[in-house]
Amino acid sequence: MSAAVARVLDGKATSALVRAEVRERALRLAAAGCTPGLAVVLVGDDPASQVYVRNKDKAAHEAGFHVRTARLPAATSQAEIEALVAGLNADPSLHGILVQLPLPAGLDAERVVACIDPAKDVDGLTATNVAALVMGRPGLRPCTPAGCIELLDRHGIELEGREVVVVGRSLLVGKPFALLALERHATVTIAHSRTRDLAAVCGRADVLVAAVGRPRLVQGPWVKPGAAVLDVGINRLPDGSLVGDVDYAPAAERAGWITPVPGGVGPMTIAMLLANTLRSAERAAAPAAARS
Ligand code: NDP
Repeated sequence: MSAAVARVLDGKATSALVRAEVRERALRLAAAGCTPGLAVVLVGDDPASQVYVRNKDKAAHEAGFHVRTARLPAATSQAEIEALVAGLNADPSLHGILVQLPLPAGLDAERVVACIDPAKDVDGLTATNVAALVMGRPGLRPCTPAGCIELLDRHGIELEGREVVVVGRSLLVGKPFALLALERHATVTIAHSRTRDLAAVCGRADVLVAAVGRPRLVQGPWVKPGAAVLDVGINRLPDGSLVGDVDYAPAAERAGWITPVPGGVGPMTIAMLLANTLRSAERAAAPAAARS
């Protein structure tokens, strides 16, 4: 008898749905006189960042947004980047500002992010938005963890009362996902590089999220039968292929649901960037309504 194989959490298809919804709302908003505007800032020539920025730029255009992409040389000074961000903050035609990270060595990303107007912080990384997440208040949520939640929601996968294990505790993915899952009343464990017996910790997860950046760290036998597995990792192997943080084939034999890499969480990140930008634009267009 062949082993059961998990159903695929198809990020590409789900992202297409979200993007179509965003586009429809963006066109309606534009017809009312407010085209959503996104500024993307890329500093230096990191090849992966160039690909990410190209994809975001293209997706935002397709959503009907007005897009301004600034490509700056790696030698750009801290003061120049901060001045650029200040200009973008002041531009009323822009509702979202994304500074592609990491920044080249020598630049202080934390200080640059701190310059972004929290109302335009569509990556959800400013202290104001992080505090809002921790306090359970409205705010812009980081795109990758928000995309994971959206993917679960759209497949009817419940979080309430369930055991969620997040491997990775970054500010970008691990910690915010844990907080979002907690907001949904999951019982959350955050594992990291000092976790003892990672296999046993992963083994109790009804929903397992891997956000580490180590190819195939999470092994098939660690997955609880029937679990939903979200693989955030993007790792390029020496042969050029992309793999996640989960050993896909053996994990898929035990999981109930699993995201592929590529085509899982990655496309959802872009969809949530568009959703966040649209939300900022809608708020800017109707500030009084948004407050109520
Ligand atoms: P970080 O490097 O910031 O964080 C990695 C985390 O993994 C850390 O908390 C670290 O623990 C933990 N870790 C490292 N080694 C181990 C180990 N052996 N066992 C358990 N935990 C370990 O990475 P990010 O969160 O920024 O990104 C994670 C991955 O997700 C990367 O592959 C990245 O490319 C990908 N990514 C994908 C996105 C998408 O859209 N799909 C978006 C963002 C990221 P400690 O804190 O103890 O060091």
